[in-house]
Amino acid sequence: MNIKQIPNKVKQTIEKYKLCSKKDKVLVALSGGKDSSSVLYLLKKFGYKVEGFHINLGISGYSERCLDSIRKLCDELDVKLHVYEMRKEQGGSMCYIRTGVQSKEKLNNCAVCGVVKKWVMNKEARKLKADKIATGHNLDDEAQTVLMNFFKGNLDLSINSKPIVGVVVDKKFVPRIKPLFFIPEDDVRTFALDKKIEHISEPCPCALDSYRIKTRKFLNTVDGKEKLNIVNNNLEMMKDKKVSSEVKYCEVCGEPSRGEICKKCKMLGSKI
Ligand code: SF4
Ligand SMILES: [Zn+2]
Repeated sequence: MNIKQIPNKVKQTIEKYKLCSKKDKVLVALSGGKDSSSVLYLLKKFGYKVEGFHINLGISGYSERCLDSIRKLCDELDVKLHVYEMRKEQGGSMCYIRTGVQSKEKLNNCAVCGVVKKWVMNKEARKLKADKIATGHNLDDEAQTVLMNFFKGNLDLSINSKPIVGVVVDKKFVPRIKPLFFIPEDDVRTFALDKKIEHISEPCPCALDSYRIKTRKFLNTVDGKEKLNIVNNNLEMMKDKKVSSEVKYCEVCGEPSRGEICKKCKMLGSKI
């Protein structure tokens, strides 16, 4: 894709899938990387009401560099930033929390971190009265997820591989939007460099999901058109599938949940 087409392509995705309106308060989940930084840059340029949100995981050295970069980005774009401090709020870094979980259950780092981050994000977004949470998921992330679910026989999980997730009408659930859903990762990288969008290129030192790494390596052997076919075919297959409209509230933390107890509380008990 010619990177000049990216803003228009993102605009089309926002309009076609009704990701957000100009009235919405959109909280952009910032990691410090190119993808989420580009989302903030684009949404701000398009005139949406955006604020930044960052979870400081407390990963020694790395988290400080992420936060520095995010502060710079938000200053440059004149965007308000909210920082959730894992150590302060939870009494320990993500590494600490993860180690506790992994001593009881065989889960990879990203599986634990992902569940906790999603839980924090929804709860905090609600507190901040956000209408939507925007994330930096790009075409490669989505194609990987669809393929991994396919390989593992978890087809149902791919229902969330779409530009907007969580439109179950529930006052406690903040829908998540993915404006870069159709943009290949390499193009986001080139775009961020071309527009001099502040970000860090350093990968997370805890990124350990061997299955995803294997799937990514495989997907790197196919081109953008094929990745697009994977996500488009999935969207087509999932279009008539209904997301269960029955929302329960976790008996431990009160957050929206599929079961009696949410995934985070199953993993951590009532630690958070
Ligand atoms: S790469 Fe994995 S461990 Fe690192 S922040 Fe992302 S989900 Fe968490
Ligand atoms: Zn819970």
